[in-house]
Amino acid sequence: MSQPSFTCPHCKSHAIAVKSRPMGILMKETTYRCKNLECGHVFVCTVEVSRTLSPSGMPDPDIHIPLSQHMRPSQKLAAS
Ligand SMILES: [Zn+2]
Repeated sequence: MSQPSFTCPHCKSHAIAVKSRPMGILMKETTYRCKNLECGHVFVCTVEVSRTLSPSGMPDPDIHIPLSQHMRPSQKLAAS
């Protein structure tokens, strides 16, 4: 599974993704397991699309994602 690694909040070792499931088009939940055998922490992270930095060239009219404040004014006009 090609998920980004995550740091275990308890022992600060690398944790690996063991399971992921979509929670809709803009969100997913991923279960991580700490690689430190003495720790063994298993935890769930939520990943959510939170804002647009550069607008899509193929926008879906049903998808509404807030625009980042860091977008250039010309990008904001193109995305609206
Ligand atoms: Zn750990």
